[in-house]
Amino acid sequence: MDPVTASLAAIQARITQAEKTYSRPPGSVTLLAVSKTQPADAVRSACDGGQRAFGENHLQDALTKITAIRDIPLEWHFIGPVQSNKTRQIAENFSWVHSLDRLRVASRLNDQRPPSLPPLNVCIQVNVSDESSKSGVQPKEVEELAARIAELDRLALRGLMAIPAPTEGFEAQRASLRPLKALFDSLCAAGFPLDTLSMGMTDDLEAAVAEGSTMVRIGTAIFGARRQVVR
Ligand SMILES: *Cc1c(COP(=O)(O)O)cnc(C)c1O
Repeated sequence: MDPVTASLAAIQARITQAEKTYSRPPGSVTLLAVSKTQPADAVRSACDGGQRAFGENHLQDALTKITAIRDIPLEWHFIGPVQSNKTRQIAENFSWVHSLDRLRVASRLNDQRPPSLPPLNVCIQVNVSDESSKSGVQPKEVEELAARIAELDRLALRGLMAIPAPTEGFEAQRASLRPLKALFDSLCAAGFPLDTLSMGMTDDLEAAVAEGSTMVRIGTAIFGARRQVVR
């Protein structure tokens, strides 16, 4: 078996096991395969294993693959920082943006989403680690931004995303993810119809499932180490 296809099966098994261990309903955690820096052939190998949702964090790197694999209907998720001058191509080529953290970018994506496509699914990226270098909205600002985004009819606000600072140890990982779940629950209680909690990467997949993630974003454990991309 192709190594990517084999690793993909192993990750699917890890997700299924984590759902059981933490009493999550079967199938409640979906897998986003993070193919950033990987070649189109690696994406095809994951397709052979049944994967259809792929995450990319750099527009040009992504467009190369999106163009190369037009023959299979794939769902592309943009998970990197969104520069204002890239919003048109993101609105035209992606189904999801996980990393929305500014109203200005949200308005541009809304205006530029082609009428022929369904609304663009978006998650608000939250800064849960409180490091000024990391992107993401401060937790106290999320509800206001969510309310503004909900008014944009070419965007579908689906949930929240975070990239916590790397933490050693399972309990510490769970603790770093818990505030995002709490914020998610409070927005749902406030009436926002959210269904997506995008959290969990290769090193904290189990902790994320334990804390209520509905979508884990896995790169290294599927594709191996990231490649150098010439940009
Ligand atoms: C690269 C990346 C991932 C995947 O990380 P791995 O540790 O390789 O699984 C997930 N989310 C985001 C936003 C990323 O940039």
